[in-house]
Amino acid sequence: DTASTGWRFDNSYARLPEILFTRMEPSPVRSPKLAILNEPLAKVLGLNAEALRSEQAVEVFAGNRIPEGAEPLAQAYAGHQFGHFTMLGDGRALLLGEQITPREERIDIQLKGSGRTRYSRGGDGRAALGPMLREYIISEAMHALGIPTTRSLAVVTTGETIFRETELPGAILARTAASHLRVGTFQYAANWGTAEDLRALVDYALQRHYPGAASGGAAGDGAAADDVTAGNMQGNRALILLREVIQRQALLIAKWQLVGFIHGVMNTDNMAISGETIDYGPCAFMDAYDPATVFSSIDTQGRYAYGNQPYIAVWNLARLAESLLPLLHEDEEQAVKLAEDALGEFGGQFQHHWLAGMRMKLGMTGIEEEDEALIANLLEIMKKHRADYTNTFRAFTVDRLEDTAMYGSPEFAEWQVKWQARLDRNKTSKEASRELMRTTNPAVIPRNHRVEEALEAAVARDDYSVLHRLLDVLRDPFAHSAEQEEYCSLPEPSAQPYRTFCGT
Ligand code: AMP
Ligand code: MG
Ligand code: MG
Repeated sequence: DTASTGWRFDNSYARLPEILFTRMEPSPVRSPKLAILNEPLAKVLGLNAEALRSEQAVEVFAGNRIPEGAEPLAQAYAGHQFGHFTMLGDGRALLLGEQITPREERIDIQLKGSGRTRYSRGGDGRAALGPMLREYIISEAMHALGIPTTRSLAVVTTGETIFRETELPGAILARTAASHLRVGTFQYAANWGTAEDLRALVDYALQRHYPGAASGGAAGDGAAADDVTAGNMQGNRALILLREVIQRQALLIAKWQLVGFIHGVMNTDNMAISGETIDYGPCAFMDAYDPATVFSSIDTQGRYAYGNQPYIAVWNLARLAESLLPLLHEDEEQAVKLAEDALGEFGGQFQHHWLAGMRMKLGMTGIEEEDEALIANLLEIMKKHRADYTNTFRAFTVDRLEDTAMYGSPEFAEWQVKWQARLDRNKTSKEASRELMRTTNPAVIPRNHRVEEALEAAVARDDYSVLHRLLDVLRDPFAHSAEQEEYCSLPEPSAQPYRTFCGT
C-alpha cells in the first residue's frame, strides 16, 4: 500500500490559479507491466524499490490507480514551436503530484503517455515504448554527466497498441522534475491569464526554485534590487526571477555544448524555469564535431543545430522576459530596458561557463588571454577532419593522441605544440591536470547506435539485458574503465544520416 511504498504527496501546483491547469485522472490501460524501474532514483525519492515492483504500485505508474494524497492534473502552457506561437498544455501527460523526499525536497511525479486531456488537440494522448525507454536512457546519462535534468523513475508497458506510421507497443514513463514550469507556462499566463495569475506564477516559481532570492535576499550580485524603484516590489520579484532563470540557462546550455548534447526541439515549452533539461524527444549527441549538426527529422532549417543552441536559448529567454514585462515596471519603456539589460547578461555568463569548461577539458589551469584562440583553433581543426567530439577529448585524456582523426596533419602538430606549451605554464601538477581532464571528459556518452541497439532488443525481443548493460556503463561516464572501451567505438559508416523524431 501507499505507506509501505513511501509515497508522500503534496499538491502545491493545484493551489495555483485554476486557469493554469485542469484536474483530471489518467485513462486506465489494459494490462500494465513494469518494463524498468530506477532503483537509485526511487531511493532518493524516499520510495521503497521492492514495493514499487508490486502489482499495486505498477497500477500507479500505469495510471490505473491514484495513490493516496495525489491530485492529478494536466498543466496548461503555451509555446513558440519553431518560432510560431501556439496554445499547448499537457496533451499526453499528467502531474500526479509532488513527492516530498526524505530531504524535504519537492519533486514532480509526472506520467507521460497517460491518455488524452483537454490539451491533446489531435493527439491520442499515448506514447510508444521505444521513445519512453530512449528518454529513460538519455536522461539518466545526462544526470550521470552532471547535467541538470528531469529523470526517469519507471517505464510500464500498457498492453495496448498505439498507431503511428506502424503499430507500436504503448508505454507510460514516470518522469521526475524539480518542476514542470516552462517558459511556455509564463507565456500562457501572460496571454490568457490576469495580472494576478501571472503574479501568482512568479511568486510560485521564486519560492520553489529560488527561495533565497524570493525571501528578499540577494539575487546574483544583488543589483536587481537597486535597479528598480522602491515601492515597485512586484517588478523587483519578476526581475529577480528573470535574472535567475537566465543564469541557470546560461550554465545549462554551456554544459550541453561541452558534452556535445543537441536538444533538438528547443521550443519555449521545452525550456524549464528550474534550469533542468526537459523533453527528450529528438535529442542526440553529436559525433563528428560540426556546429551545423542536426538530427531531428523535422528541423529542416537547422534552427536547433548544435551551434545555434546558445542563440536559441536567448531567444526563448526573451519570450520569458516579454511575458513578464507588465510586472517588470509600470512604465513600459523602463520595463523593456530592464528586460534587455537582463538578457544582455546571458552571453557573458554562457561564455564564462563554456570557456571554464573547455579549459578543464584540455587540462589547463589558470587563465590566459590566448586560451580562447587556442580552443577555437582546435575546434576548427576538429571540424576540418570531422573528428569525433567525445573521442577526441577522451584521447587527450588517456594520452592517445594518435587515435584522433586529426593526428598526423601539420595543423594539428602545430596546435599540439601550442597546447603543450600552455600546459607547461600550468601552476598545478601534471597529475592534477590529467585528473581535471579525466573528470570532465566522459569516456562514454549514449551513442546513437548503442541506444538503438538497446531499444531494438527491448522493444522487438523483450530482451532488456542490452539496455541494462548500457545503463550500467553510462552511470559512471568518467570511469575510463576497460569495460567501457567497446562503448567508445563509432558506428559503421552508413549511407543514411542518423535521424530522430518527436511525438512518438
Ligand atoms: P513536444 O514536441 O514533445 O514538446 O510536444 C508538444 C505538444 O504536443 C505538447 O503539448 C504535448 O503534450 C503534445 N503532444 C505530443 N504528443 C502527443 C500525443 N500523442 N497526444 C497528445 N498530445 C501530444
Ligand atoms: Mg514538450
Ligand atoms: Mg516531447
